[in-house]
Amino acid sequence: MLTIGILALQGAFIEHSMPIERLGHLSKEIKQPKDLEGIDGIILPGGESTTISRLLDSTGLRVPIQNLLTAGLPCMGTCAGMILLAKSIEADSVPTLGMMNIEVKRNAYGRQLGSFTRMEVVEKISDAPIPLVFIRAPYVIKVAETVEVLHRVDQHIVAVKEQNLLALAFHPELTDDLTFHKYFIEMIQQN
Ligand code: GLN
Repeated sequence: MLTIGILALQGAFIEHSMPIERLGHLSKEIKQPKDLEGIDGIILPGGESTTISRLLDSTGLRVPIQNLLTAGLPCMGTCAGMILLAKSIEADSVPTLGMMNIEVKRNAYGRQLGSFTRMEVVEKISDAPIPLVFIRAPYVIKVAETVEVLHRVDQHIVAVKEQNLLALAFHPELTDDLTFHKYFIEMIQQN
């Protein structure tokens, strides 16, 4: 049984514990540096990336998380979590963790039209169509050669993987579908 940390500073963090537990693993809320002890992977949830970024500093979590990710701890970032993983954000100054060689556009679908659900077959991960829920979502506008593109919606890159890091523009934790959490667990087990 694995212990998966979920960054619990702001946003949709509670929702990630359900899929982790349905897959038979333990979830652990991360609110301060000592909570990072003993985790096998970490999830950065959706929310407001500027708020989460500010709280990363006030809690002292920014540097310990950066160190763990650099050392190879598997991480899945969803929506705002994707923004936090990126090295570069287009036309925006939110301080990220700067871990993945991607450039991300925040609120890429606009603020009004920003929320929608698409049923998509994510060929690299699943044969069946799965619901992808976008909420004021970002997408990836540039990737380095080291980044594997897992999925595009309407030509826009919405799921990427680079070594121990997985970033999704959408919210798998807001659906009943376990595909992406299962994929993340397998990433940890193969680590
Ligand atoms: N729009 C948010 C941001 O820029 C992300 C939205 C989300 O996580 N659902 O941080």
